[in-house]
Amino acid sequence: MLGRLNIGKHLAAAALVLASQLATAADRAHVVVLATGGTIAGAGAEAANSATYQAAKVPVDKLIAGIPELAKVADVSGEQVFQIASESFTNNNLMALGRRVSALVKDSKVDGIVITHGTDTLEETAFFLNLVIHSDKPIVVVGSMRPGTAISADGALNLLDAVTVAANPQARGRGVMVVMNDQIDAARDVSKTINIKTNAFVSQWGALGMIVEGKSYWFRKIDKKHTLTSDFDIDRLKELAPVEIAYSYGNVSKTAYEAFAASGAKAIIHAGTGNGSVADRMVPVLRGLQDKGVQIIRSARVWGGFVLRNAEQPDDKYGWIVAHDLNPQKARILAAVAIASGYDAAALQKAFWEY
Ligand code: GLU
Repeated sequence: MLGRLNIGKHLAAAALVLASQLATAADRAHVVVLATGGTIAGAGAEAANSATYQAAKVPVDKLIAGIPELAKVADVSGEQVFQIASESFTNNNLMALGRRVSALVKDSKVDGIVITHGTDTLEETAFFLNLVIHSDKPIVVVGSMRPGTAISADGALNLLDAVTVAANPQARGRGVMVVMNDQIDAARDVSKTINIKTNAFVSQWGALGMIVEGKSYWFRKIDKKHTLTSDFDIDRLKELAPVEIAYSYGNVSKTAYEAFAASGAKAIIHAGTGNGSVADRMVPVLRGLQDKGVQIIRSARVWGGFVLRNAEQPDDKYGWIVAHDLNPQKARILAAVAIASGYDAAALQKAFWEY
């Protein structure tokens, strides 16, 4: 009799523990990790290989299984969307990833999304999603500078931090974010600035916040249109417009500009020197292309600051556009989305002020 009572007590205690575990699982945010490749999924031959390795090797399930701490912060599931190095991303990759994110944010069981990505074009993908995904659910793009096989690899902590931010209700409505190196950056601002250090990503106007030991510290909000306030929507976008980037330098020639136009570019981002300046002999070339319907968008090859409209060149007179503070690669993304949405030169310029 006494034995039976004890068994009953044990069973009741076990049931309580199970119930509390189930409750915790139900309370925990559900974060989906969409894996696309990059160094965060990279593998090198030896632990000393921090820069010589193959990107896009480790599948998402293995990435998640390698970080047991993830289960403490969220209910995490993974999907392998691509397994590529990010320099190989195409517009089709962007559209496919955007469509998957759009479907997931509409799922009431999903609270946040993390995208693992190569760092080379991470800022372009993050900015694209920032423009076209209509949701206030946290969307976090993350990469790493060292493969997981390296000593002092940065990917595991970056991924844990990214999932932690994606699971945090305080992260809602801040636009798409990039989380790396303890920092939370806005997709529109952040840029890769160096290829061999772990503090590679910098926002010229400052980070949104920091994440330290699992706690997020927020310092500012972005004052630009994004996600829910964006006029663009992946669900209405069929494809991206062809937009190319021409890099400027002393002795620059018209060859690349004319070849881009001949290949069907709807806009050319002029990665100009200094304040997006244009060499004297190139002005008639660019004006000629614009007369043929190719939008000329002045950005700059320098890292910081912004291109001033009607300084250096009379943009009003020529009907040119300035990219404001967007670097050439981000200017390409905005122009490709806006032109595909039917924007003319005036609407494009407005978009460059607003996003
Ligand atoms: N070039 C590769 C990529 O962008 C590896 C660089 C990285 O992820 O840090 O995917």
